[in-house]
Amino acid sequence: MNNLKDLKEKVCVITGGGGVIGSSLANGLAGTGLITVIIDINEEAAVSVADAVTRETGMQSFGLKADVLDRRSLEEVEKTIQQEIGNIDFLINGAGGNSPKATTKLEELTEEDLENLDSGFFGLEMEGFKQVFDLNFTGTLLPTMVFSRQMVKRQKGVILNISSMNAFKPLTKIPAYSAAKASINNFTEWLAVHFAKVGVRVNAIAPGFFLTNQNRFLLVDETTGELTERGRKIISSTPMGTFGEPGDITGTTLFLLSDMSHFITGICIPVDGGYSAYGGV
Ligand code: NAD
Repeated sequence: MNNLKDLKEKVCVITGGGGVIGSSLANGLAGTGLITVIIDINEEAAVSVADAVTRETGMQSFGLKADVLDRRSLEEVEKTIQQEIGNIDFLINGAGGNSPKATTKLEELTEEDLENLDSGFFGLEMEGFKQVFDLNFTGTLLPTMVFSRQMVKRQKGVILNISSMNAFKPLTKIPAYSAAKASINNFTEWLAVHFAKVGVRVNAIAPGFFLTNQNRFLLVDETTGELTERGRKIISSTPMGTFGEPGDITGTTLFLLSDMSHFITGICIPVDGGYSAYGGV
């Protein structure tokens, strides 16, 4: 199979589909003939993305509210999809993100900070740490449990997790997000092995840096609109010299969902403008 025809009319659930990357993926997938189900805790965002996808591509797209951390809400949505739309062929676990509450003020501690340890690691609040870790890890685990059961019974399906550069090497300031994304890569491998003999493939994509709601506060100065020092560091560490455009993830996603990748399971593909290949010198 060397084309994307096998994807036509297949049903793809995208969690976090109301966000920047999820909505762009929904558009790209619908443009290739997939039926998309946009799931988001923000119902208005889910519905408006689904409406825009239908308007722009002519494909059916549905926006439904669910919380990826609430198993019951996921089960209700799964039932609705089975009854009103059909079998779920693909799941993209896109809900995730970081929060200022799980971000240290300092990149690293120096001798000068010894009287001010709360600006670093010691100032992290468990509530924020747990919230970010749970959203990214448990928010991938629970939808997978709920939406892959029928895939396994039918012995056909693909799960695609959204990882991050932080999974390979943690970025400063964001330990909860980094740990959660590393755990997503580990879980991707674990589940890929677990499902390998029942026809369900599990892979991940690690996007490089894209300017979106979850990271804008770290990368762009609110008042001037200029890149922060961190934003500039990221660009200089990205050999292609730019942030990614959300649409850059579509091609890799289509490949991993389609039968073109039928012998690929348990991998994580970076889509990062060369960031993960660059040693910094
Ligand atoms: P985004 O903030 O634009 O979108 C995230 C979406 O998830 C939002 O619509 C939000 O409402 C939804 N969401 C949050 N909590 C939820 C919950 N409990 N249940 C259901 N939905 C929930 O962010 P994005 O940049 O589009 O991120 C999408 C994915 O890509 C995330 O997993 C993120 O970690 C990952 N990622 C982003 C970047 C980047 O540079 N932007 C880089 C690497 C990975």
